[in-house]
Amino acid sequence: MRFIRDIYAECRAAGRPAISYEFFTPKTPEGDRALREKTVPALCQFKPDYCSVTYGAGGSTREKTFSMVDALQRQHGVTTMAHLTCVGSTRPQIEEIVAQARALGIKNLLALRGDPPDGSSEFKKVEGGFEFAFQLVELIRRMGGFSIGVAGFPEGHVACKEGAIVDWKRLKAKIDGGADFVVTQLFFDNRDFFEFRDYLTARLGVTVPIVPGILPILSGKQVRKFTQLCGSRLPISLLVQLDDLGDDDAAATEFGIDYAAKQCEELLRQGVPGLHFYTLNKAHSTLRILDRLGLKSA
Ligand SMILES: Cc1cc2nc3c(=O)[nH]c(=O)nc-3n(C[C@H](O)[C@H](O)[C@H](O)COP(=O)(O)OP(=O)(O)OC[C@H]3O[C@@H](n4cnc5c(N)ncnc54)[C@H](O)[C@@H]3O)c2cc1C
Repeated sequence: MRFIRDIYAECRAAGRPAISYEFFTPKTPEGDRALREKTVPALCQFKPDYCSVTYGAGGSTREKTFSMVDALQRQHGVTTMAHLTCVGSTRPQIEEIVAQARALGIKNLLALRGDPPDGSSEFKKVEGGFEFAFQLVELIRRMGGFSIGVAGFPEGHVACKEGAIVDWKRLKAKIDGGADFVVTQLFFDNRDFFEFRDYLTARLGVTVPIVPGILPILSGKQVRKFTQLCGSRLPISLLVQLDDLGDDDAAATEFGIDYAAKQCEELLRQGVPGLHFYTLNKAHSTLRILDRLGLKSA
């Protein structure tokens, strides 16, 4: 398996965007089966550059995350990144988890602080644990053997009361600590991404790939819930269109494909290094978008 930093370098040299898919760890055996037997084969036949698998609150999905990464790497031959958070783990426990990842042949980690466990509004580090993602980045870098990604927030992180620019400077600290690339939170107004990217590159001197995270909308209700949780803004014009679609999820999915494809077309014209799709464990929308972009190559 390859280091993702090398994948971005190679794609850049070839003048093409790196395409990546994110999967979450399903809560039910049926969800797990659908992901492994339907979604992953459907998406992986069009050779992504890499995939990534989320890490549940408090490390609750560690086994599942690593098992899914392992399956993607061994059965589908796709380089895969495991997400890893600081929630609920002490430093020695995190060291053990990173060592376990290495033993499984995982070469890429997305180093995250993680969200507070269900119900709590404020993140509290455990005794002997980490408070911020930059500490996790530094630990992984010191342990060695991984390409490290970090999360970036085009509109600023939802909990950062000091505003977006302060949050972007903190992102720079994660990069200085050893991160090789940034994957962003979902956003629906490309101007937010361009402002974020331009500030990081022109004002803060960031040179690592800054990769937009794209969420194809599947339902109006669901996207409202997601954005409420993560703090991303739904532009008024988008909200009006979603209101018109009401509870018709099939229509919302069609609309979401068109909206995301237009977002991607503009992002690609503006030279983004890749597109990271939040697939929500469904293949249909992502495949349609790639088809429209002319990026569906077997
Ligand atoms: C691409 C992507 C994938 C994700 N995958 C997962 C996943 O698999 N599992 C999961 O649980 N969550 C996931 N998340 C969500 C993420 O864990 C949350 O958004 C979390 O609240 C912040 O994580 P972070 O790594 O950005 O934290 P940090 O970079 O630590 O930032 C968290 C907050 O602390 C502030 N901060 C940072 N450094 C300092 C400092 N030195 N002093 C004071 N304040 C500081 C920041 O401004 C921010 O408000 C993902 C997010 C993205 C964008």
